[in-house]
Amino acid sequence: MSTQKPPFNDNRRFLANETDNPLHEAFDHKMTVHAMPKGESIRPEKLPGLWADVMSAKDGSPIRTIYIHIPFCEGHCLFCGFYQNAYRLDLAEQYVEALIREMELTAGTSFINARPFQAVYFGGGTPTALPAESLTRLVSTVKTLFPLSNDCEITLEGRIYNFAKEKIEAALSAGINRFSLGVQTFDTRIRKRLGRREPRKKVIKTLTYLRDLGKAVAIIDLIYGLPDQSLEIWEDDIRTFLSLELDGCDLYQLSIFRGGLLEKSVAKGSLPRPATLKEQADYYVRGVELMEAAHYRRISMTHWARMSRERSLYNLFSRGRGDCVPLGSGAGGWLRNYFFFVEGDLKDYFSAIKAGRKPLSFGVKRPQRDFLFRDISYQMELGYCDLEELSKRHDLDLLTILRPIISQWEKVDLIKLTDGCLYLTRPGEFWAVNLAQMLIDRIQKDQ
Ligand code: SF4
Repeated sequence: MSTQKPPFNDNRRFLANETDNPLHEAFDHKMTVHAMPKGESIRPEKLPGLWADVMSAKDGSPIRTIYIHIPFCEGHCLFCGFYQNAYRLDLAEQYVEALIREMELTAGTSFINARPFQAVYFGGGTPTALPAESLTRLVSTVKTLFPLSNDCEITLEGRIYNFAKEKIEAALSAGINRFSLGVQTFDTRIRKRLGRREPRKKVIKTLTYLRDLGKAVAIIDLIYGLPDQSLEIWEDDIRTFLSLELDGCDLYQLSIFRGGLLEKSVAKGSLPRPATLKEQADYYVRGVELMEAAHYRRISMTHWARMSRERSLYNLFSRGRGDCVPLGSGAGGWLRNYFFFVEGDLKDYFSAIKAGRKPLSFGVKRPQRDFLFRDISYQMELGYCDLEELSKRHDLDLLTILRPIISQWEKVDLIKLTDGCLYLTRPGEFWAVNLAQMLIDRIQKDQ
């Protein structure tokens, strides 16, 4: 029996549904994470050697970030797929010691010292759950051990609960210059049902305090499509944000994680159903309209800034070609030709650190043409993809390869093509991750 590759022009799986309503119906499913190519896994026994090779290199991308993961939360929010461990003071203290040891094991190498880092991001989990003293120690240790640029953006992610004056002051004194706080909705009733403890009044009070201090950028996350969140409540969430005059905001679509607490709660009837995909599309459009009417600057498909003070460097750089040094249990980042993931199981993480080893549990080799795929993902997050320019930069005729599918997308009104550059229409913006992933998959199909 002879085997044949599918015909070169078999592009059916990359086409949108033929519809007059692309916002609601262009695709049957929506992708919400970042678009990325398929890469080859690295066998665990090879990880230490590859890490050592990278750390002994004397160069790398001029764009460099550090991601530090704090894998604890004071409560499990029903909508969240990132929960790892319940916060306990003794465990958190043990973790901070181990994390500082990991920083010491990582710093001082040729690669780390080669160039300054432009962004440091404390993410989680809930970094703001840590005691003030631990936050101070962690930020000071990063500043001491790693070369940071003079304008380095140092972000502390977290939530309003247990984040009061003393902790805010400690974080600011240590050098945090950007706060990214998960609010999700200002509606007290919905907040409580989803596991967010603080009422609207307290959320507004903390945010107003941060704004009035004026010492650091303050941005928040809001989510649309939550159970019981009508379009009016969503509009009120955005208008409340606008009235606070913070520095920026992310407007995220609710993701329902399979087997997660939200899905289970809806199934057993303890929570009403969240918005359908079509309703989410309408919420998305309303969100964009309100932000545009308030003259906010769009930094990515989801992120908006009031003034140039908000840069969102870590988020932008991590989608592009930059190197990212991962630190902490559950952290991950691309470094030169590999993606490294730090052990997510706390016990294994602690034992590796005790043995003086970088706790790596998983790795991926950069696929062929990965820099092209990163350029596509980065540009699509900004609402365009300059295929003509990328063809020259990567020596590949992208317009010829992609023409059959992008012509159909243009017909369905997901994109506009001008001088070899693809621009997302409003419906196209809503489906941006699907479109970016399809561009990548279609190119990768021929490799
Ligand atoms: S939303 Fe934040 S605080 Fe809530 S469970 Fe997820 S990571 Fe933890």
